[in-house]
Amino acid sequence: MDEESAYYECHYAPCARIEREPRQFSICGRCQETRYCGTQCQQRDWPYHKKYCRERPHRECAPQQLMLPHRTDGAPDR
Ligand SMILES: [Zn+2]
Ligand SMILES: [Zn+2]
Repeated sequence: MDEESAYYECHYAPCARIEREPRQFSICGRCQETRYCGTQCQQRDWPYHKKYCRERPHRECAPQQLMLPHRTDGAPDR
């Protein structure tokens, strides 16, 4: 266990708020690294963050399979 008692800064640059108590901010659900003071900041930063945001890698090194969408909403097949 390494308890970190660091105070994180909101990742959304123009905001720059800092936690007042540890783990006050919410973490990005995908990468579990980036912190925001609120969902608004997360949403605003998302267009930029999504380029860097990666889901935490799974342990298995299985070859990546692209999941094709199973939609049948009539994609025109010309
Ligand atoms: Zn913020
Ligand atoms: Zn993320």
